[in-house]
Amino acid sequence: MSAEERREALKEVLAQVKVCVRCSELAAARRNVVFGAGNANADLMFVGEAPGASEDEQGLPFVGQAGKLLEKLLVEIGLSRAEVFIANVLKCRPPGNRDPLPAEIENCHEYLYRQVELIQPKVICSLGNFSTKLLRGDPTGITRLHGQPQLLTLGARTVRLYPIFHPAAALYTPRMLQTLREDFSRLPELLALAEPEQPQELEIPEPAEPQEIAAAPGGDGGEADQLGLF
Ligand code: URA
Repeated sequence: MSAEERREALKEVLAQVKVCVRCSELAAARRNVVFGAGNANADLMFVGEAPGASEDEQGLPFVGQAGKLLEKLLVEIGLSRAEVFIANVLKCRPPGNRDPLPAEIENCHEYLYRQVELIQPKVICSLGNFSTKLLRGDPTGITRLHGQPQLLTLGARTVRLYPIFHPAAALYTPRMLQTLREDFSRLPELLALAEPEQPQELEIPEPAEPQEIAAAPGGDGGEADQLGLF
């Protein structure tokens, strides 16, 4: 897929998200959907939790205090915001900045997976517990996992997942900031690694000609035969 096709496909997902009302409470309260922003061809993708008040107001991810810190940490490792793609688990702000509910994550995760599938980043950096748990499909928390890169197969592709603390957690805790900075400093070496081996593409056999189906043992062209084709 070319860069232009990727952008167009992402725009289609954006159009779907803009009118999404799967979470009626969030849809009714939002000022803007926060789809995500950045380079559609990025090697590095960040996944945060959910938009806050500033993000909801501007329709852009990580534009508040946590976003300023994220941007600063990026600059420290020689990257700019424009080079990466930044998204969240939820595309709408939970009222009062409460935690995302399991049902909301369930409703919204398809959009994030589609973003990952289209952008095809080399490294996904999950920020904090919610994105780490969702992407790993496991309840292990960020305190245990931060700073440990791992391979993650999502759909048809394997990426490097790099869980780190959420910048909001580091805003007022100097020790946490130090850890976040240390974890961040490993990002350039992760990005420089060769792409992980990709899963084998499934070969889907050509469907049999109708007369072959009819001739197959016990075959009447019904459901059992169709399942047998895959
Ligand atoms: N925190 C997040 O997780 N995402 C944002 O977009 C802003 C703050």
